[in-house]
Amino acid sequence: MHGLNEDQMMMRDVAAKFAKNELMPIANDIDLTEETPEWVIKRCGELGFLGVFIPEEYGGIDAGLTTACLILEEIAKASPAFAGVLSVEMILCPETVRLLGNEEQKKRLLPASASGERVMAYSQTEPSGAANIGFHQTRLTEDGNGYRLNGHKLFCTQGHAKTYLVMCRTEKDGQQGYGCVIVEAEDEGFDIQKYEDKLGWRGTNTGPIAFNNVSISADDILGNILSGGPDHGPANQVSFMGHAATSLGCMEGLFDLTMEYIKQRELYGESMLRLSPITDRMAQIFTKIEACRALLYSSTAQHEAGTMTLPMGSACKAYICDTAFECTSQLLQMWGGSGIMNSTGVNRYMRDARAKMVAEATTEMHHSIIATALDLGGPFAPGARL
Ligand SMILES: Cc1cc2nc3c(=O)[nH]c(=O)nc-3n(C[C@H](O)[C@H](O)[C@H](O)COP(=O)(O)OP(=O)(O)OC[C@H]3O[C@@H](n4cnc5c(N)ncnc54)[C@H](O)[C@@H]3O)c2cc1C
Repeated sequence: MHGLNEDQMMMRDVAAKFAKNELMPIANDIDLTEETPEWVIKRCGELGFLGVFIPEEYGGIDAGLTTACLILEEIAKASPAFAGVLSVEMILCPETVRLLGNEEQKKRLLPASASGERVMAYSQTEPSGAANIGFHQTRLTEDGNGYRLNGHKLFCTQGHAKTYLVMCRTEKDGQQGYGCVIVEAEDEGFDIQKYEDKLGWRGTNTGPIAFNNVSISADDILGNILSGGPDHGPANQVSFMGHAATSLGCMEGLFDLTMEYIKQRELYGESMLRLSPITDRMAQIFTKIEACRALLYSSTAQHEAGTMTLPMGSACKAYICDTAFECTSQLLQMWGGSGIMNSTGVNRYMRDARAKMVAEATTEMHHSIIATALDLGGPFAPGARL
């Protein structure tokens, strides 16, 4: 890719080496067992990946969104499932704390997040729908001695996290709001209910969690009690770009494996490359990958220059995740029966690409966010949901 500075290229190369030498050998196991060994996240801390989006004063290296996406793209070539987890740890959670937290909260949470000692989770989705926040039931109430949290969330990724950033309904002086509170795994009344068996993005425990009268101190309310829940705000827009980077890496990873495969595969006594549907399709997929790369990195550049006026995170997430599913499905087809067998490690790319069309808001939700930004109204228009 053109236009990268030396630091960006260096981080990309470190990530590529880590992905090839350390992650690829266990990538199939991550998918099959639905678990990532603990050392992997710690190693990402040692290599500086987790602190990429965290300011230096809080233990990070503040290398920016382009670098974060380059790292995620490289890692997704080996394990799109783990890259999805890393995106939450590297961008969504620390950025939510950075944007909303006070000084004490940033000092408490960010350095340990940068080193990989404090794994964080972000929990918004409820049975009534992820974005349907007006119908969310998880509620923070004041009880004279402090606050209490009660409710039930679904599909929380990083079920084994130490710290949970929990979006909830709030109220203050008779006013209703939507905020974010910090819950620790050991807090009394916090319960991880079960882990789901998933189609894709299997590198982590995902499942329902519950809060039964969990005591929350004022220090654990992130930002403004009435508007601390960022929902699809700035932290989410950069996080969406992280997920788009993982989908870009996902299709590139399978593209590279397929290139090797079709070059050595013989059919009817001749090279498989003789079949024009194969070579035509590879050329088309190559072009789609390059178009996605251009969209993603022009968007990260806009973000870094402070010139982003439309929700480009949503545009990248919707377009690149959809394209990744289309392309990985077509690439899988070229492997014939071998692509369907789990032992080859090929079909996990397509399953991960499919899961990412839903996780962190569906493609349709992203289109709604974009439509609202284009002044077309809809469920994401200000004040439409609470
Ligand atoms: C692998 C995985 C990991 C996840 N991890 C987390 C996590 O860590 N934390 C967390 O909070 N959530 C997590 N989720 C939940 C995820 O964010 C939601 O599943 C997703 O946003 C969709 O919400 P929903 O399931 O409530 O679907 P629904 O809201 O019930 O959607 C149903 C249908 O309606 C459409 N729809 C809904 N709203 C709109 C709209 N505004 N405009 C247009 N169409 C719409 C959807 O596209 C979909 O087709 C995860 C999900 C998956 C699959």
